[in-house]
Amino acid sequence: MRLSRRLALGVSAALLALIAGAASQAPSSARAAHAPSRAPSPERPVPPPARPASLARPAPPSIPLQPAPLPPERLAPLPAFESVPVSRIGGVAHIGANDLARLLGATKFWRADLRKLVLRAGPHRVTLTTDNPFAVVDDRTVWLRAPVVSRGGELQVPVSLLDALPRDTTLARLLFEPHRGAVVKVPRGGLVRSPEVTSGDTLTRVVFPVERVADVTVVGRARGHFRVRFAGTFVGAAPESLPPASLVRRIMPVAAAAGSVFELEVASGAAGYRLVRGAGAADAAAGTVTLEFPRPWRAGLEEFALEARPSRVRVIVLDPGHGGPDAGVTVGNDVEKDLALALARLVRTELALRLGAQVVLTRDDDRPLMPEQRAEIANRARADLVVSLHFDAVPGTQRAGAAAWCPPAGVGAREGPLSPRAPLVLLPWREVALRRAVLSRAAAEAILGALDAAGAGPVRLRERLMVPLLGVDAAGLMLDCATLSAIPDRIRVEDPRGLQELAAAIAGGVARWAEGR
Ligand SMILES: [Zn+2]
Repeated sequence: MRLSRRLALGVSAALLALIAGAASQAPSSARAAHAPSRAPSPERPVPPPARPASLARPAPPSIPLQPAPLPPERLAPLPAFESVPVSRIGGVAHIGANDLARLLGATKFWRADLRKLVLRAGPHRVTLTTDNPFAVVDDRTVWLRAPVVSRGGELQVPVSLLDALPRDTTLARLLFEPHRGAVVKVPRGGLVRSPEVTSGDTLTRVVFPVERVADVTVVGRARGHFRVRFAGTFVGAAPESLPPASLVRRIMPVAAAAGSVFELEVASGAAGYRLVRGAGAADAAAGTVTLEFPRPWRAGLEEFALEARPSRVRVIVLDPGHGGPDAGVTVGNDVEKDLALALARLVRTELALRLGAQVVLTRDDDRPLMPEQRAEIANRARADLVVSLHFDAVPGTQRAGAAAWCPPAGVGAREGPLSPRAPLVLLPWREVALRRAVLSRAAAEAILGALDAAGAGPVRLRERLMVPLLGVDAAGLMLDCATLSAIPDRIRVEDPRGLQELAAAIAGGVARWAEGR
């Protein structure tokens, strides 16, 4: 877990710039040794990895890992978000003032003499008057088209007020959904509505109506499991049927801890894809994100990920973390550097059995290695995949199970350098690891899925470039194989059979990734 101070300082400045520009994930403190963040702050909940479909099994109730058993073609609207039913008064939808205040996080002030209700939320105030069709929003007077009325001692407000509320970050955004007969509180990141698919013979378009066109990332580029992630919350439904000529065979919403993820199955006829934000596609208005899948190759298309086949995966590098004077984390008799080496040797044996790949260890004894030495070994071996093996310990927390860290896919998918305003000069190794982000994430998902299936969970996936992968010119991930501060994890790793099972699961995940399943 611990790097030399000199090294940590050396890499942390460059990493900080990288992570500031790259990672959209919550910062972590637990990884102080591998990550630049040293500030102690409780780690936020981690987005669970999407589970490969082949591993489908009931997810634990608190962590939606996978779309729970999917209705065949279509899914019910995903998340439960805050909403309140409206009442119809004289044919006009009204929301109760108490509900309105609660959704807005507003405080109510009732002035009985004036029969006025003032709602205060942050810097904003809304004044409503009984039997009056006008409201005052901050310093604007707004016509509500119908009067505010009193029913059973509570004011009922026409929902047209919602459109007049200020749009800024201090105020929750409320939306009247006529088909639900409810007012919903728009989650952070906005909403994503039902995608629409149109198709001619040579081009299939999938149009997602969204509110924030910038917050979209292609996170999986394989034709079979093409994944796109939005910051917004999905409130629609997947299309009931697709056009006959469609090059997209299936669209499924996939459970995600934050935002929404869709998985598409793309026909082999599609030559590539293009992501169009807002205006740009011929028929895309602002407020849409369009995925285009044309049939013949044309300039400007992005390529699908290579569907990795066993013949393509020739060399796998296992990197046992730490070594020599750097012991990593130590809990009782469990020493990270020793566990990592023992596990790496077991994984090597398992991989040799399952996959005809050459397996290289960055160290096969108790020696210290600098990150650049590890990367050099991996690059010289022409690794197809690098798995850096570590163990974690976060005493005094409920933390348990395994975590994978892979380079952020959002950055890997972006064209060109990170940011012209990045405070530090770009270093050549940065892009090297990042451009394998999508493949790396697929490997991480496969390995975590196998670990979870083997009972070594809960598992977490984070997109972040960690020190052990600096300079690595291959798909790669850092794996915290278990959490030594958790009793069940310690029992597992201290039992030779338990360690063997961990190794078998990791090797199984690698094999599944290599076979492109
Ligand atoms: Zn470590």
